[in-house]
Amino acid sequence: MSSHYETLGVTRDASAEEIKKAYRKLARKLHPDVNPGQDVADQFKAVTHAYEVLSDPQKRQVYDTTGNENGTAGGGGGGGGFGGFGDIFEQFFGGGQAQGPASRTQRGRDALVTASIELKDAVQGTVYTLDIETAVTCTVCNGSCCQPGTSPETCTICHGQGQVQRPVRSFLGQMMTVETCSACRGFGTTLPNPCNECMGQGRVRERVSKQLKVPAGVATGTRIHLAGQGEAGPGGGPAGDLYVEINVKRHAVFEREGNDLHATLRIPMTAAALGTELKLDTFDGEQEIRIEAGTQSSDTVKLSQLGVPRLRGGARGDLLVHVHVETPTKIDAEQRELLERLASLRDEEFAEGRLAERGGVFSRLRDKLGHRA
Ligand SMILES: [Zn+2]
Ligand SMILES: [Zn+2]
Repeated sequence: MSSHYETLGVTRDASAEEIKKAYRKLARKLHPDVNPGQDVADQFKAVTHAYEVLSDPQKRQVYDTTGNENGTAGGGGGGGGFGGFGDIFEQFFGGGQAQGPASRTQRGRDALVTASIELKDAVQGTVYTLDIETAVTCTVCNGSCCQPGTSPETCTICHGQGQVQRPVRSFLGQMMTVETCSACRGFGTTLPNPCNECMGQGRVRERVSKQLKVPAGVATGTRIHLAGQGEAGPGGGPAGDLYVEINVKRHAVFEREGNDLHATLRIPMTAAALGTELKLDTFDGEQEIRIEAGTQSSDTVKLSQLGVPRLRGGARGDLLVHVHVETPTKIDAEQRELLERLASLRDEEFAEGRLAERGGVFSRLRDKLGHRA
């Protein structure tokens, strides 16, 4: 095994310019386009590899110190040291080995659609009808892309390779580059009789309806993954996946926070003072709740386990009913008289207000609901 210096035919103290010159000279002579044959190709690889190591000051230093480019002393720089020459090799060959024709059959794309559901459906789960435009395999040609009874023909330009060689000028002189065949667009075959239904694509766009099972507990942003229900691939290829992102609509009465639901209950001042029982419409039907005598505005009545279920099963959140005590705004003379009498009985005729400290009930409520103060 000769050293990289020997391979390039330069001395150990050769300058970067000398190394480059030596490499160009050898590369011109040994380039596989100029000089085909396995021996020459191997030599070219060795020369290219030697140049890659010696033209990189860091690699060269490692090589000079240890005798191989991996930095392991005593490794001897065996014949398997071509691992790292990909960069420069591909630079000259435009991707190295020819890749052969591309297949018309490919996997379809994944698709993402949104499903807007009611809050009630998020609480209880539902079956949602997705109406989406997608790609489906052409039923006329079954994805073959050809009119029934016909088949693709080998491309006469690239002879089925999907690629053609084209000469280009480079600093190594004239070289051949490999390009996708424009006659067959790289497929290696042409379609003399493309399917009329799908224009030779093997698939068509169509509106389809799908029934989607939405589990209880979903929230806005929850994604449901339906494997193999995305767009059908070209040329009869398998379908990609379908992702459905849930959007839960705002509800007029209930606001969701995690798995709890919040609602505001407006009751008259008298009911708050005297206490009462009343019925509320919830997602679980009519529920009876008790308003204790002396209830204050912003007091909360908790209906345990009437919130949103956990997505993966388990306990439900709660329904929290925030009481809002309504002060009468229009009162007649008799009501005024009664209220004045009440105020008098309670020594409140000249009641003074006082400012509450911050952190009182309103701040706490706002914090709880996630609003900014
Ligand atoms: Zn077709
Ligand atoms: Zn072709």
